[in-house]
Amino acid sequence: MRVGVLGLQGDFREHLTVLRSLGVDARDVRTQEQLEAVEGLIIPGGESTTIAYLLEKTGMLKVLRERGAQGFPLYGTCAGMILLARELSDPYPENRIALMDIAVKRNAYGRQLDSFEADLQIKNIGSFRAVFIRAPKIVRVGSGVEILAEHDGVPVLVRQKNLLASSFHPELTGDPRVHRYFLEMVAQG
Ligand code: GLN
Repeated sequence: MRVGVLGLQGDFREHLTVLRSLGVDARDVRTQEQLEAVEGLIIPGGESTTIAYLLEKTGMLKVLRERGAQGFPLYGTCAGMILLARELSDPYPENRIALMDIAVKRNAYGRQLDSFEADLQIKNIGSFRAVFIRAPKIVRVGSGVEILAEHDGVPVLVRQKNLLASSFHPELTGDPRVHRYFLEMVAQG
């Protein structure tokens, strides 16, 4: 299975490492041609305004909107989730993939909780140690969106058909089970 990680900015290397540990042909995706060659894509954490700018500049934003709407598997972590969200409470970034029926508030976990770890209960996965770094908070979830995990009553891992998004960073804890879940989505897609 050939899976891409968007390598324009952010912690894409960590995702590539997890995917390769699972035996996947994981590719760094920086161009439209490279995007054509993969069966699913992870959009990593980083700075969402920068990633959005580079996505548009490379022409990949339009392609991802089209392919994502047609069933291409996408997984956005943290900044990646911001890019997937249809609705945002701040004006930026404007140019998002915007396919998931969720509303998100950037950096919304408060200053003293800028970064923290928490044990989650993930549906079909079980207990999972999650790292949150200046994480976006999901403030609304549409009816077609399945909540796979919550933290303090707030959804933190959600799925809408071929789209998966998390507020936290599963690539930083050495536990590949969320990545494996996404690979199952890719295999079905
Ligand atoms: N705060 C970042 C943003 O708004 C996201 C943080 C992250 O991806 N770890 O883009």
